[in-house]
Amino acid sequence: MVSPFRTDTFERLEATLGSVFGSRTAKALSAVGLHTVDDLMHYTPRDYLSGTQRTDLRTLVPDERAAVVAEVASLSSAPFRGDPRRYRLEARLTDGRGFLNLIFFGKKYLVDYWQRQLSMGERGIFVGKIGEFNDQLQMTHPDFVMLDAAGRIVGAADEKRALMAQVVTKSDIIGIYPARATLPTWQIAECVAMGLDMLAGIVDFLPPSLVREEGLVGLWEAFDLVHRPRVPDDVARGLKRLKFDEALGLQLLMAYRRKESSRHRAPVITHRSGGLLDAFDAALPFTLTRGQRAVGDEIAADMSGSVPMARLVQGEVGSGKTVVALRAMLAAVDAGHQAVLLAPTEVLAGQHEGSIRKLLGPLAAAGTLDAPEHATHLVLLTGAVTGAARKQALAAISSGQAGLVVGTHALLSEAVHFSDIGLIVVDEQHRFGVEQRAVLADQGDHRPHQLVLTATPIPRSVAMTVFGDLELSTLSELPQGRAGVQTTAVLTAQHPTWLARVWQRVLEEVQSGRQAFVVCPRVSQTDGGKSAEPVAAAQEVFERLGSHELKGLRLGLLHGRMSGADKESAMAAFAAGQTDVLVTTTVIEVGVDVPNASAMVVLDADRYGVSQLHQLRGRIGRGSFPGICLFVSGVDPRTPAAQRLQQVAQTNDGFAVAELDLEQRREGDVLGAEQAGGRSTLRLLRVLDDADLIGRARDVAAALSTTALESLDPGLQDMVKAAQLNADAAWMERD
Ligand code: ADP
Ligand code: MG
Repeated sequence: MVSPFRTDTFERLEATLGSVFGSRTAKALSAVGLHTVDDLMHYTPRDYLSGTQRTDLRTLVPDERAAVVAEVASLSSAPFRGDPRRYRLEARLTDGRGFLNLIFFGKKYLVDYWQRQLSMGERGIFVGKIGEFNDQLQMTHPDFVMLDAAGRIVGAADEKRALMAQVVTKSDIIGIYPARATLPTWQIAECVAMGLDMLAGIVDFLPPSLVREEGLVGLWEAFDLVHRPRVPDDVARGLKRLKFDEALGLQLLMAYRRKESSRHRAPVITHRSGGLLDAFDAALPFTLTRGQRAVGDEIAADMSGSVPMARLVQGEVGSGKTVVALRAMLAAVDAGHQAVLLAPTEVLAGQHEGSIRKLLGPLAAAGTLDAPEHATHLVLLTGAVTGAARKQALAAISSGQAGLVVGTHALLSEAVHFSDIGLIVVDEQHRFGVEQRAVLADQGDHRPHQLVLTATPIPRSVAMTVFGDLELSTLSELPQGRAGVQTTAVLTAQHPTWLARVWQRVLEEVQSGRQAFVVCPRVSQTDGGKSAEPVAAAQEVFERLGSHELKGLRLGLLHGRMSGADKESAMAAFAAGQTDVLVTTTVIEVGVDVPNASAMVVLDADRYGVSQLHQLRGRIGRGSFPGICLFVSGVDPRTPAAQRLQQVAQTNDGFAVAELDLEQRREGDVLGAEQAGGRSTLRLLRVLDDADLIGRARDVAAALSTTALESLDPGLQDMVKAAQLNADAAWMERD
């Protein structure tokens, strides 16, 4: 195969591990996700142990990793919590100055084995993370070897012996790699050392001037510092360089993508005086917020150019994104083009169509693209639209009679032919892959303008990393007259009686003419198999509430397993105020708009992610009545899960929630398929912590990309290529 790379450096880095090590080693390495030399170089130790800093037990601090040499003072084992299948072994260590407890859990034979090991020598070396329990320090399941009276390691495998000997004897800092039973950390260290030897003398792919200006270390040095630091500061210097490379590769890729897309022509859409948009604005029953106007101006400016717009509008749920989008769509129709709105679910598409029709009033009466001044035709197309209605919709779309088209991914099907798309709006973007947008974007000979709406607030650094090819607009204020939402975490483990109070509150809301949502993590109790823990299920909760706690109220049920028509009628009944309480699942997470709904109860709220909870509660408090949201959970109030609920309850700020969310989750998930359309996988970059560095890389990339890609430094070209391959790979792993 011809290498896609231009430089020797990249050829060597991208060489497969199989070509460097034997196939057995390569196979073991591939089990931890390492396929190339470059992967191996980026597999950084998760911890570093310093041999000389053998710890005095009095100086241990929680959360640190430590290597201690100490004597076993006492040993005891017993069944754990009276369960004869699970044993707990406790060893009390002392170094003559302080104490440390070791804890092991396991089947009896394992506990017996550890107990024998621990009593085999005079002292031992114990490596692990320091925890705290009942005000005492402890290590759970440490790595250890025992020493005899002369200080020799007794009864351990050779490799482990070697590593542990290093811990106590060598003065170097030793990297501890995320390992597997089949691939211990010392074996990884060995491979890395060989890799480093092999790469000795590689030419840095960054221009020396850039390395100097950014205060970076050289490439090989960076690898060396990260894997074999001499002093603790080395690691940070090495990491900075590797992270910068990663950020720059991504930013260059996006900069050139932006450049590429700006080469395409989009229809020029300028304001048409006396057109649909003007008529719409004149009839609008409210005044636009300042933010809606400002973002509207940005969009209008984008669309008046022949470069395709690629803009992301983020705004809290209820900030009025739909109106902003609709105004842009009307401008497109005014200019003689079709405008398409893509929604992630049928329910949502139906809602959009309904609310757009309502907002448009007589403007949505049938009209033609040739004479759009008076009205345009609005068409809904989802999988649920079938038969004659579908035929009609398809005809209106292809003839251009329909100026406004709302639908789900059903619009992406090959049977759908558009007459002339000028604008594509994608609502709740994280449900759609970028490639799906591309399907529509590539229809016809020009490229339509694109507007993406998201209610998930995205910190700037994430936006730059993940949505680097989109411009960003933010709707930060809510329309006037929104009463907001008061959230409380109801922890029933702490206050069992509060659950009754929850239903009482729902009753009160309904009695004062409002409506409520009850959200359950599951559709039916029989889901998730027999062994699954009991979790609130919509069907059962619906029945239970109807016959007990909320007896006498009009209850509705809505979940994803109902047919499209049933969903629609359940939603319609609730929207029309014919049901008081809607028992549902996260089907209602996005976009549902019932201003009279003022209360929401989320059952087993700990089952949801932070962002999801925030999205959910955005469904209430949309009218002029203050919303009340109750996160009900049975988790222990001291657990992180409970604290998380409290934190979300305490803030209404979507950005604060987004940051919380990022802290809780692995970045890979943040950038994973769900949120980002599987755009990229990050290796060492951490979008929050490394925001400054990402910003810096973005600036550097912007400056570099004024040069044509083909004329860029070969090393930099290879960086872009590698970032591209990495993004493509992440793509393909998605399904
Ligand atoms: P989002 O899509 O951002 O969640 P929507 O566009 O659905 O928000 O708007 C939520 C509700 O607020 C809708 O009923 C909409 O008609 C209304 N709305 C939008 N803009 C304003 C405004 N400027 N003033 C008052 N109400 C508004
Ligand atoms: Mg919306």
